[in-house]
Amino acid sequence: MERTALVTGGTRGIGQAITLALHAAGHRVAAIYQSNTDAARAFSDVHGIPVFQWDVSDFEACRNGINKVAEKLGPVDILVNNAGITSDAMLHRMSPEQWWRVIHTNLGSMFNMSRHVIDGMRERRFGRIVNISSINGQKGQLGQANYAAAKAGILGFTKALALESARKNVTVNAIAPGYCDTAMVAEVPPDVLKSIIDTIPVGRLGTPADVARMVAFLSEDAAGFITGATFNVNGGQYMA
Ligand code: NDP
Repeated sequence: MERTALVTGGTRGIGQAITLALHAAGHRVAAIYQSNTDAARAFSDVHGIPVFQWDVSDFEACRNGINKVAEKLGPVDILVNNAGITSDAMLHRMSPEQWWRVIHTNLGSMFNMSRHVIDGMRERRFGRIVNISSINGQKGQLGQANYAAAKAGILGFTKALALESARKNVTVNAIAPGYCDTAMVAEVPPDVLKSIIDTIPVGRLGTPADVARMVAFLSEDAAGFITGATFNVNGGQYMA
């Protein structure tokens, strides 16, 4: 069934692959970005997918943006909370600004976005929310106390909202990707990246499409018995 989907950070990297996968599944998809307008416009022009600009760490901006998406495409049935950033530093060098920016963008956005779609999903008795966490939220990573805390927080948020929503046919799941070949990972120094790949049993980085496939599956109408779960998409690097 054709539904309305919204993907935060949906114009680049993993989010772009998710947007395309949901589009290919026959849904009306809105892709949200923050500041890289050139990349967003180019993506929209090539694929004919509408893009919207707002900051997912801003509660009111999310309210206004989601209303605009609903006006254009209809109320949101499928929400993919994918937007995320890193701002790495060892804790003894991390500034409060680095801490809060990462927490607000990665974890605050879960509340800011979900809060504005959950009423409608409950009323319509259908919703799929997929939250993108990270392997580093599961196992920790030096230099990423902010990011690991936010990504671990997503897992608790996912389970709580799944419990609250289960009777309304609204499922809430998390995906914890391992290292994927995107701009975010391009910032990792080559020697560090090689040592990371050496620890991945399948012997390669993930691709955005590896993650998008799982999102598309969890977003199906038929996936209604799967909720509150965390899915590792990490090439076997972490198996908890
Ligand atoms: P990218 O840096 O390639 O893309 C991030 C996207 O998020 C961009 O579209 C960006 O918009 C958007 N974005 C960032 N901040 C905001 C904001 N405040 N408001 C709105 N949009 C925002 O990231 P990846 O594709 O690598 O990562 C996607 C998700 O997957 C993230 O949550 C990340 O933490 C997670 N992840 C990534 C892994 C990896 O190896 N790449 C591994 C594990 C998890 P704009 O284009 O305007 O900058």
